[in-house]
Amino acid sequence: MYIYKHNLVGSSVEYIWSKKNKKPIEELDNIVIHYTAGANAVSSAKYLAADNTPVSAHLVIARDGSIFQIVDFNTQAWHAGKSKYRKTEGLNAFSIGIELENYGLLKEKDDKYYTWFGKRVPEKQVVELINIQTGFPAFWQTYTYLQLKTLREVCQKLLSCYPIRRIVGHSEISLTGKIDPGPAFPLNDFSELIYR
Ligand SMILES: [Zn+2]
Repeated sequence: MYIYKHNLVGSSVEYIWSKKNKKPIEELDNIVIHYTAGANAVSSAKYLAADNTPVSAHLVIARDGSIFQIVDFNTQAWHAGKSKYRKTEGLNAFSIGIELENYGLLKEKDDKYYTWFGKRVPEKQVVELINIQTGFPAFWQTYTYLQLKTLREVCQKLLSCYPIRRIVGHSEISLTGKIDPGPAFPLNDFSELIYR
């Protein structure tokens, strides 16, 4: 896998281009991690790329490790929303947005677990961890080994190409209370990549 003309190239990369994103990135110094909370990686990538949706991201990484690129790395995607990191506001102009295929926060009923849209999630994919927003335990879908391995590789390629100084979760920069990528995501393992 490598980066050529602001695109990821490799056997596991497919492209579903967004035509709505045109503004160049001002200064690329952050990677922002998200979860999709969608039905699957392909449907999420198509939604993010669609002309009539107000959101987009640079990449979606599926649970099997396959990658969809939607926006060039030198073009702003619409993933951060109202956001702030220290003195920087509006992180879309300063970051690459990576979406991970994951249902996110789950609902529990009679010891069974469901997505927000009512799909049952196998118990082995469920982990109970504190929701930092409420301070109470909640249920979340786990990330897969292949997905995190791919994300790691992608972050390393991006770090070698661009002057990125931080890898942050959407919840850390959101001014509208976004909770992704949630506590099931090992954010510290990725923040540490910066110092290697
Ligand atoms: Zn997000």
